Amino acid sequence: MEGIKTVFVDLDDTIWWFTENSKVALRHVYDKFGLSQYCNDYNCFRDIYAAKNLELWDLYHYGKINKDYLVTERYRYTLEQIGVPGDIEALAKDIDDEYLFFLSSMGTLIPGAKDLLDYLVKKYDVNILSNGFNEVQMRKLRSSGIENYIHHLVLSDDCGITKPLRGIFDYALERTGATAETTVMIGDNYDADVQGAKNAGWRTVLFNIKGFDRNSVPDADIVVEELEEIKSIL
Ligand SMILES: [Mg+2]
Repeated sequence: MEGIKTVFVDLDDTIWWFTENSKVALRHVYDKFGLSQYCNDYNCFRDIYAAKNLELWDLYHYGKINKDYLVTERYRYTLEQIGVPGDIEALAKDIDDEYLFFLSSMGTLIPGAKDLLDYLVKKYDVNILSNGFNEVQMRKLRSSGIENYIHHLVLSDDCGITKPLRGIFDYALERTGATAETTVMIGDNYDADVQGAKNAGWRTVLFNIKGFDRNSVPDADIVVEELEEIKSIL
């Protein structure tokens, strides 16, 4: 890929292994808050939470709900479904605080992530572009030991606009002094990362951890199955 100066990388499930880390964090709050007394089938608890969380993140991406609603509602709904009595709103908030704190203290990265960052920083200005929450994303960078590779951490939390909306991509260029023509976005989410960046005039690399059919991702300039492959492209 010619003429690139600036690289933006998504964080969750592109660099920091959200899927793996969140499994451990969810199990942690289930145990810590004694939720097995209401729902002794952990998988059932997990499935209710996961479906609701996904639904809420979709709404959040498109600016239809705010962060406070997202973080309280995902556990409030789950507690309601498993039949927890009493003031579940307050409990939901406590569980979410613990979940996010525990989650962001975890450091498992996608295989090859550190090696890739190490390679990229020698050639490009490397930044993160993420829809995650400010304090949480910052802690993830520290916990996983990649903080020093990242020049700017650009978050939807800072500009009030989420990927895939055009505004956050323009904001990212402004923050870093980059130009669309010389910038590439690397991410695992086809809508948020790839279509969003393409729409803003950036070049795009899809990290295909979700296993998309290659014919279904036309806006990706390059599709890679392993992070390692990016080193031969950039
Ligand atoms: Mg992601």
